[in-house]
Amino acid sequence: MSEFLLPTYNRQSVRFSRGEGPYLWDESGVQYLDAVSGIAVTGLGHAHPDVAEAVCDQVRTLVHTSNLYGIPWQERLGERLVSISGMQKVFFGNSGSEANEAAIKLARLHGRRREVANPKIAVMEHSFHGRTLAALAATGNAAIQQGFEPLLDGFVRLPYGDAEALRHAASDEEIVAVLLEPVQGEGGVRPAPSGYLRAVRELCDQHDWLMMVDEVQTGIGRTGRWFGFQHEADVLPDVMSLAKGLGNGVPIGACLTAGRATDLFAPGSHGSTFGGNPLVCRAACAVLDVMERDGLVARAESLGEHMADRIRAGLVDVPACREVRGRGLMIGIELDRPCGALVSLALAEGLLINVTAGSVVRLLPPLILTESQTDLVADRLTAVIRTWLDSNEAAVTPAAG
Ligand SMILES: *Cc1c(COP(=O)(O)O)cnc(C)c1O
Repeated sequence: MSEFLLPTYNRQSVRFSRGEGPYLWDESGVQYLDAVSGIAVTGLGHAHPDVAEAVCDQVRTLVHTSNLYGIPWQERLGERLVSISGMQKVFFGNSGSEANEAAIKLARLHGRRREVANPKIAVMEHSFHGRTLAALAATGNAAIQQGFEPLLDGFVRLPYGDAEALRHAASDEEIVAVLLEPVQGEGGVRPAPSGYLRAVRELCDQHDWLMMVDEVQTGIGRTGRWFGFQHEADVLPDVMSLAKGLGNGVPIGACLTAGRATDLFAPGSHGSTFGGNPLVCRAACAVLDVMERDGLVARAESLGEHMADRIRAGLVDVPACREVRGRGLMIGIELDRPCGALVSLALAEGLLINVTAGSVVRLLPPLILTESQTDLVADRLTAVIRTWLDSNEAAVTPAAG
């Protein structure tokens, strides 16, 4: 790879030059089926015609004016996000990390309003919230924090999915907010246990904490609901962060608020030069148009169930497969061993997958897959896993005699 780029990523050697729907082509014209979607970003697939048309038209019309002026597309997008989420107001930034930075700043302001001198946010083990300094301090992964100490203060770490642990944490009167993912993504595709989000909501009400959900990966239909928190009845967070799937690859992030989180920011409290410019907001409006028109949220749920069932069936007699889990088209296949090697093996078979948390194959395919493409992803993947495990077993188990 390029000697001019800082080596922040271990990249596969493939370089793509073109995409269409769920397919990508490399520089030699080899076709790949994309079950990663640029890490949950291109939910409508590559080069979606409606998004392409909206972006092209907007580039020819007006790209950027700054937030010193009114931006009609930003207002329109804000209204639409509010209407599908039940939240009340939106701040636009450019990434997931930035959306979480806004959330963390809101928690600090909420603490200030409550006159808590050193406000703390309860965060979860194995969480991921991004790479900026506050977001990485909130993240529950030592490797991501390594070398960047001193970390930002004011986080209390708790086991994910454990309402009892959160109830106990309430003895710390400096806690003012809880930040969590409805399904932990980087942490290994771990859905919140049933009842957990409602318990968090109740504790937040009881103790005047902000309930802040990081929907950067789970948001915009990925899990079979518009937002991951909607899998549980009667739960509305106070703060929600979004990014990834919102722009189908155009960089946009958003931090939404409801209730008591809504009057914390005032002019001058927060800002972003690029945030919510006409280009990205127009693109995101086009994404929402297509998702609504084509019923892609419901589709993510049914395709996801179908894909997970087919993978389960394909691995039913494989003891190294511990669990196939997820929500909608966010699927994790946990093996009993580190399996990063599967990424390049699948690539060689024309399939893009991701491995996270060491031993979990993560699938984040686009929501526009056909049923036969869904089967193809599942079948190619199970074949790659079986072949690799066979050669793996042969390598670690010396042949008898
Ligand atoms: C990817 C991700 C982020 C960080 O988003 P960036 O756009 O890379 O800054 C934050 N939270 C979650 C849950 C994510 O999956």
